Amino acid sequence: MDKIIIKELEVYANHGVLKEERELGQKFLVSCNMYLDVKKAAKDDDLGETIDYGKVCFRITRFLTDHTYKLIETAAEKLAKELLYTIPAIQKLDLEIYKPWAPVGLPLSTVGVSISRGWHDAVIGLGSNMGDREAYLRHGVEAIENSKDCSLVSVSKFIETKPYGVIDQPDFINGCMKIRTLLTPRELLEFLQKIEHSVNRVREGKWGPRTLDLDILFYDDEIIDSKELTVPHRDMQNRDFVLIPLNQIVPNMCHPVLHKTVSMMLDELRDR
Ligand code: ATP
Ligand code: MG
Ligand code: MG
Repeated sequence: MDKIIIKELEVYANHGVLKEERELGQKFLVSCNMYLDVKKAAKDDDLGETIDYGKVCFRITRFLTDHTYKLIETAAEKLAKELLYTIPAIQKLDLEIYKPWAPVGLPLSTVGVSISRGWHDAVIGLGSNMGDREAYLRHGVEAIENSKDCSLVSVSKFIETKPYGVIDQPDFINGCMKIRTLLTPRELLEFLQKIEHSVNRVREGKWGPRTLDLDILFYDDEIIDSKELTVPHRDMQNRDFVLIPLNQIVPNMCHPVLHKTVSMMLDELRDR
């Protein structure tokens, strides 16, 4: 992917574990690769279509001088998020913070930290079969919209479906949404579980009635198989209540294990 590069921006700021570092301050050097598509800006020769690196330099300087952290790790993490929150064109960034005057007591040219952070695409399945089912699903969508670490890309229609697995329970409403997120898969699962708990989701046996179920269906094209998380969702290819709404928003998304698109999985399920 294309990138805009800032190299060794000098900032005098007050980060450090030692009291003197925080009181007296010292020199930091910041380098940043910002990944984005610059084709349109290049074609139209238009600054409005790309990232204004001058503004980014001022933003970095302001952020590092307005805050004080013990660790450059923390400074880098918070600065990366600040840039990703406030400059939507950046899809991913590599950020380096160097501290050439680090009080180590030995000769060295510099010390530093380097991190990569960025937006990921994820697809979430929603389901409810208790109380005001539609309101619970809307609550799930709004919780994503209101989170700084996530943004909503698209939502399917909500459909009424028959229960799956345990069939003597009320009918469901299901849907799904495509999101962008700065969270890792585990952080995203934790965040979704918090949203479920906020509407009093109780886990009473497998596939029991619930106010709101939020499952991670896809996370980029990652394959995860751990005790607490399986991505892509392990059973999606067998569930029409997942594939029908999924087919409305990401028909061409390819399952990285089965190597089939959503629309192929839906066709195969219908043929069974
Ligand atoms: P199913 O996962 O078959 O749809 P469920 O959604 O009813 O069942 P839950 O009670 O919501 O199951 O979750 C049980 C556990 O499943 C969670 O504690 C979570 O750790 C785990 N899990 C594994 N993979 C996923 C995933 N992709 N999305 C959400 N939860 C997952
Ligand atoms: Mg589920
Ligand atoms: Mg679940």
